[in-house]
Order: sequence, then C-alpha cells, then structure tokens
Amino acid sequence: KNTQLEDWDRENFFHPSTHLAEFARGNLAQRVITTASGCHIEDSAGNRLLDGFAGLYCVNVGYGRPEIADAIAAQARELAYYHAYVGHGTEASITLSKMILDRAPEGMSKVYFGLGGSDANETNVKLVWYYNNIRGLPEKKKIISRWRGYHGSGLMTGSLTGLEAFQKKFDLPLDRVLHTDAPYYFRRKDLDQSEADFVAQCVASLEELIAREGADTIAAFIGEPALGTGGLVPPPAGYWPAIQEVLDRHDILLIADEVVTGFGRLGSMFGSDHYGMRPDLITIAKGLTSAYAPLSGSIVGDKMWKVLEQGTDENGPIGHGWTYSAHPIGAAAGVANLKLIDELDLVSTAGKVGAYLKGALNDALGDHANVGDIRGEGLLCAVELVEDRDSRSFFDPKKGVGAAVNAALLSRGVISRAMPQGDILGFAPPFCLSESEADEIAGKLAEAVREVLG
Ligand code: PLP
Repeated sequence: KNTQLEDWDRENFFHPSTHLAEFARGNLAQRVITTASGCHIEDSAGNRLLDGFAGLYCVNVGYGRPEIADAIAAQARELAYYHAYVGHGTEASITLSKMILDRAPEGMSKVYFGLGGSDANETNVKLVWYYNNIRGLPEKKKIISRWRGYHGSGLMTGSLTGLEAFQKKFDLPLDRVLHTDAPYYFRRKDLDQSEADFVAQCVASLEELIAREGADTIAAFIGEPALGTGGLVPPPAGYWPAIQEVLDRHDILLIADEVVTGFGRLGSMFGSDHYGMRPDLITIAKGLTSAYAPLSGSIVGDKMWKVLEQGTDENGPIGHGWTYSAHPIGAAAGVANLKLIDELDLVSTAGKVGAYLKGALNDALGDHANVGDIRGEGLLCAVELVEDRDSRSFFDPKKGVGAAVNAALLSRGVISRAMPQGDILGFAPPFCLSESEADEIAGKLAEAVREVLG
C-alpha cells in the first residue's frame, strides 16, 4: 500500500485541535478525505461515512453541490480577488451583503465581512470597544461570556470561549473577559430545581456579576443562541428574554454568536429570532457559505452603526480590515449557497428532519440506563451519557466513555462528534439528511452504546 501521503502528513502537517503527542506516536487514525457528496464523505482507504456532523457543523446544504462549485469557478475566472477597502466591492460581495440583511433579524444595518468565526468575533469586540470610546465611555469595556460558550480560538475569542482546553497553558483569558453561568438545565446542581427557577438563578448570577464589576465597566454579553461546542444545549424556556432584560437595563450590548445557528440549523433562519434575542451584533460564518469557501461576517445593528459612522467623522477611516475581507470567491459561494437554501426550502427542512432525528434517537435509546438526556433543536442534537440515570451521576471523564461510543459508531460508518466536556455525542448533519439516514444514525448509535456500555 502506498503510504506517501500518510508519511508526509505525520512529518509535516501540524493538525489543529489534535493530541500532538498521540499523533506523533501513531496512535491516532490518519484519514485522508478524498471526496464527498450529499451527507457522505469518502477516504483514501475506500471508506464511505455518513457525516452526522456536517464537517464541523458547517456543510449545511450537503457536499457536492454543483451550483456552488460552479459559482466559485466562475468567480475565480472572472475576478479572483480585489480588496474591499476604501469603498471597493464586487458584484458578489455587495449582493451577498443585501441577501444577508434581507434575512437578518429586525434592526440590523450593515455587514462587515471576515474569514471565519474567530476573526468575526475579534471584530465584534473591537467594534464594541470603538463604539464605547466614541460614546465617551472608555471604562465600559469588559465582555461577559458563559462557561461552555465557544467563540473561537484567537487571543480574545479564545478568552471568551469558556472551555478549559482553549485557555490552559496559553495564558488566557485576557483581561476584560468575565464568565457567567451556562444555561445548561440538565447539569443543574439541584435535581429538584424547576426550569423556571434555574433560569432565575442564571439571571441572578448575571446580576451579581454586573453589580460586583460595575455596569459602567461592562460593554457586552456574548452568547450562542443554543450552546454549541460546550455541549449542544438549547436554552431553557424564557432564558433569552430574561437575560435581554438585564442587559437592556444596564446598557450592555448583546452579541449573538450565530456561527452555528445562522442560516437555518435550528429550523429558523436565525437563532436570535427563534429564541427572542434582540442582538446588537450577530456573528455569522459556517452556514453562510456552507463551508464551500471561507467567509464570515459581523452583522451590525442600527444603534451601533449610527455611532460607528460618527466615529469615522472624528477619526478618519476605521482602522480595522483584513486583506481577505469580503473575498469575492467566498462571497460568490455565499450567494449561491443562500439561493440554494431558498430554492430547496432547506430551513424548514432542517426543522422537520431535526424533529425526525430527535424522535428516532428517542425511539432507539430513550430507555437505555446510561442515556441521561436526548436533546436538540432543529438539526443540532445531542445524546448525553450518564453513569446512573436516577441520580444523574456522570462517568469519570478519564474513562473516556463518550469517545469510546464515538469510535464504536465510527466503526459502523457514522460520524458523530464527541463533544469536549462530558460524555456527549453530537449530531449536526447537513440539512439534506433523509429520514432513512436519520434512522441509520439512531440505529447505529444504539448499537454503539450497547457495545460500550451493555
Ligand atoms: N463561534 C462559534 C459559535 C463556533 O462554533 C465557532 C467554531 O466552531 C466559532 C465561533 C469559530 O469559528 P472559526 O472556527 O471559523 O474561527
């Protein structure tokens, strides 16, 4: 067997989010992905796998869409690149900005384009600081995030991310970052607590944090409408309206990180609309192009826009830009992707297939003694494993139960994601998932759970 690529890979390639030492020791499976179509990927060893996580929950329209590939090729031939500084644009980037705002929640004004979710959130924080400086509030700069929130891997965004691995040994978090409770009802401390009381507790601890630090030092609150990487957890009922009320009262901006939820994953175009958030900034990436090309955006609300405009009257051009802001190829992919989502009605499809998948997971595993929670909204679903259901005790993380089930599922040809904190199997497939593919995921997961846990 020719192992040239595998050898080069081991010798040269620094893989992100990878156990480097285990990789070097040859203990991690190397997989060279060669092609993909619909919900399936194929590798160089001839395996065909059902991708239950749409890459990194980003290939929302599914793999191999000729409409997007053709749009990218046509753009590359016509105009591969020009920058967007000092008022330049392209047909693709200008059209896409309009398409995004046509779909965005009410009260949004403009789109700033970036490359990925991390840089879009870096942009958001800089815009918030710029905004408060222009308003003459230089002390109002801290950003509140939640434990288990995921907002990227940059210096600021890695600080906002409330997961240990993204901070430990990196000297993060930076100053000006505060963390508050995750709205993770299943993991509440007191099992007898009602959902309403749990929400009240999240709100009270946010209020305490604001009182302790001083509202005049806090600029913004950032959150994913439904927690993603931190566990795939839809918020308890009433959470966002209650948080929004606190933020409004203290003049704290809301950044909705919709990198995962934007453009349909929850069965609504935006999670902000789904849960009654009124954000000042919305982060978009992944589903904007279904990952056919890198592109992200910060959607800026009216209130901030009016101030940002004034700022440039005082200070000249805004000193923030990337070479690849609004890259024409990413923008062309975005236009074709959003058109396809409309034509195939994929947003409502995601809601329907998501409900079917959750039902299938419940049928297959609902009464297993080690399945503590089956949750989801649209095509963002999770199965959380527990050692004991009645006492809701968790496995010792060192046992790696979630990773073992994930591996057992993979050996049956289905990809899930073992989420980083807890024994949580995540499913966020492309929106074109068929009911029989959903049944396959559920059936094979049940087999995998029984193989590992009996
Ligand atoms: N925000 C959220 C909610 C995400 O899930 C991610 C990535 O998974 C990011 C931001 C960072 O995006 P990127 O990896 O494109 O930088």
